[in-house]
Amino acid sequence: MKDFGCYIEGTWRPAETNEWIDLHDPADQKVLARIARGSAKDIDQAVVSAQVAQQKWATRLPSDRARILYNIAQIIRDKAEELSMIECRDAGKPLVQAKADANAAARFFEYYAGVADKILGNSIPLGPDYVDFTVREPLGVTGQIVPWNYPLQIACRGIAPALATGNAVVLKPAELACLSIFTIADICQEAGLPNGLLNIVPGFGHEAGAALASHPGINLLVFTGSVETGTAVMQTAAKNVTPVLLELGGKSPNIILPDAELDTAIPLIIKAAFPHSGQTCSAGSRVLAHSSIKETVIERLRDSIGQLTLGRGLDDPDLGPVVSASQRQRIEDYIKLGQQEEADVYTGGRFIGDADQSTGHFVKPTLVCPASSSARVAREEIFGPVLTLLPFDTLEDAERLANDTEYGLVAGIWGRDIGRAHWLANRIKAGQVFVNCYGAGGGAEIPFGGYKKSGFGREKGMDAILSYTQIKNVCIRIDASNVNF
Ligand code: NAD
Repeated sequence: MKDFGCYIEGTWRPAETNEWIDLHDPADQKVLARIARGSAKDIDQAVVSAQVAQQKWATRLPSDRARILYNIAQIIRDKAEELSMIECRDAGKPLVQAKADANAAARFFEYYAGVADKILGNSIPLGPDYVDFTVREPLGVTGQIVPWNYPLQIACRGIAPALATGNAVVLKPAELACLSIFTIADICQEAGLPNGLLNIVPGFGHEAGAALASHPGINLLVFTGSVETGTAVMQTAAKNVTPVLLELGGKSPNIILPDAELDTAIPLIIKAAFPHSGQTCSAGSRVLAHSSIKETVIERLRDSIGQLTLGRGLDDPDLGPVVSASQRQRIEDYIKLGQQEEADVYTGGRFIGDADQSTGHFVKPTLVCPASSSARVAREEIFGPVLTLLPFDTLEDAERLANDTEYGLVAGIWGRDIGRAHWLANRIKAGQVFVNCYGAGGGAEIPFGGYKKSGFGREKGMDAILSYTQIKNVCIRIDASNVNF
């Protein structure tokens, strides 16, 4: 068992309190490691170290920054096996999904390494007497608060564009799962990232997290997590007029039109619903099926759910354990609520390997067909392996149901008639809409973020550059009245 302290100015150290938090393997509840219980003092030291380092980093040639980011990507690739094993045990994720996360982590650094020397401004025509242009400048120190479900991916999703654009990072990982992030710190050091540009202060949300959100030295807060905490972080940040980038929850629909190719759609809809046991913000956790094919869709979903496997992440099942006892309780309460709301409930899945069902936090994949669209299970984010299904009759119905939650993160549309799919895509209030696919590999290239309470600002793709920079307009008056020698 290992202890993971605070990583400040390139050095590992215990928290000022010298207190530690145990991290458990969700498959058997054994203690995996201890992380430091960071406090406001540690956050303050990390911010100061980041401020000093950022001043120099912002003046480095963009191509130098790019080279270091490429090095980081390469070392992540070299250590992908180790990183995915850590993520698999710590978060309870099936190994194949943890490997995909390690690949995504490398892709973020590759992608933003490529972008670092292509961050362009505009030239604005004010007539012959002026030269006017814009430059995109770094904000300074970014404070990044990361959840437990995708520590590796989400940390790298924020660190890579922040560094590429000349910012520094103080990152607060989640207290339930975060171990892969400490390996990323070591990798950054090995790759030649100057000390102080990446600082990590683990700890509880209400302590280290709240201290980071309220620190006046933070110039951008990047928060990924629940709507409730995101709202609190935004309120705190408002006191310092610190801009926030919020990536929050989702209740994303997969809409199956009557002419959909079910042989293609159903396996991908199942894949979209249950990644990391449904503990995925962008999971396709709702199916909206045209009433003419509703029974067929239910039958096919039930068959597929029946074949899903559960087990320890290392045994590479379809579903690993959920992250904690309280998360398991919350999901089971929602399934009970569905039954009280008169939904039809189908549960599937079979155990493989040596999964310990008495101590592991396992929840079987479940399909819930509520009697009404007003059922809470059909509207609220459950964040577990629970897929809800509602029927619709017309395209207008599909549009209304798709938009009938407080979230707007992702939507999928399945059907051969692209005219209908396009009609819906135009009307759905979500940051990403996929037609006859879902997630497209989670690509680093595609802008990701929410409408409504799913948040605002964009991560990934070129649009993230807008989130991590601020525009300066420079206007130069040219005196050309006397240009003769
Ligand atoms: P959470 O909001 O409980 O915690 C997220 C992070 O915030 C953790 O690091 C936590 O320690 C910290 N935190 C808690 N209280 C805080 C406070 N008062 N001040 C500052 N920080 C605080 O969320 P969670 O349970 O870890 O994650 C699940 C939620 O995250 C779900 O709603 C899910 O949809 C969402 N999520 C969104 C995305 C996305 O990109 N949109 C990705 C993953 C998860």
